[in-house]
Amino acid sequence: MPFADILGHDRIIEVLRRSLRSGKTAHSYLFEGIPGCGRRKTALTLIQALFCTALADDACGVCPSCRKIDAGNHPDIHLVAPLPDKRDISIEQLRDLQHELALRPYEAPRKACIIDPAERMSVSAANSLLKTLEEPPGDALIILLTENAGMLLSTVRSRCQLIRFAPLSPEHVLTLLERNGMEPEAAALVAPMSGGSLKRALELDNEALAVRREAVLSRVGQLNINRIATVFDAAEELSGNRDATLELLDMLLSFYRDAVHLGAGSGEIVNRSARAAIESIATRRSLPRNLELLEHIYETRRSVQRNANPKLALDQLFMTMADGGR
Ligand SMILES: [Zn+2]
Repeated sequence: MPFADILGHDRIIEVLRRSLRSGKTAHSYLFEGIPGCGRRKTALTLIQALFCTALADDACGVCPSCRKIDAGNHPDIHLVAPLPDKRDISIEQLRDLQHELALRPYEAPRKACIIDPAERMSVSAANSLLKTLEEPPGDALIILLTENAGMLLSTVRSRCQLIRFAPLSPEHVLTLLERNGMEPEAAALVAPMSGGSLKRALELDNEALAVRREAVLSRVGQLNINRIATVFDAAEELSGNRDATLELLDMLLSFYRDAVHLGAGSGEIVNRSARAAIESIATRRSLPRNLELLEHIYETRRSVQRNANPKLALDQLFMTMADGGR
């Protein structure tokens, strides 16, 4: 796929394309980011562009080399991952890889490999890779993917060019889900809860989320400072363990982000399938007040993450949300 199909990483792609044009790509890259944010796609497209017979700084998508990579059967690309039922990437796997990289490429100008997740290389495997990273045989390109570069040996890290991938925005997740063929209704439901990961979005149970969202919107709609029971009942019903509460706060964040968008005159919202409820949040309070509430929800999320009691944190948050204020 061409670089243009990758969403959310424009700056990274610009840097990679510039290095392709000048023929100065690094030997070894370390792509850091959460799973499902686009690291692997970017790695494959970088290799595709390097191998492409039609274009210098992108993948044309139609030449035989690009087609083979899209089909996942190019003989000069090696993917290394833990074997089924194994936790780690073993030193034997790395030896096999080094053996392959030392052979002449079959079709491409050079060989390439992706090691994912790189933090699962055993210490001996990682140590055996050091020399290869420094002087890849036959000019091979080595790309390591990791969730956290800090989990790799510093000797591995320092031999690679580190590129950090940010999580995707909910809007980009939404677009990618729809491109994947997900119904727009379901996509609009899971995108805001994906944490910026397409992978996570695809794993979420959209029916369970729909039920949860209804419950949250209804409770939030009933918050009334003059009927204090509405505050404590909502906190009682919606709080759970830390993870469930963080998920709830993510949902509230996405509602208020949308409400602020509507209040600011933008018609674009992520929770499209709950538009009526979002409009009522947007019109119940002024835009500045909704911005304050949005900041308040962020604050609450941070404190729950830092170990605040979920129920008490929600009591306070809902009290503020119920408060008349404009
Ligand atoms: Zn091509």
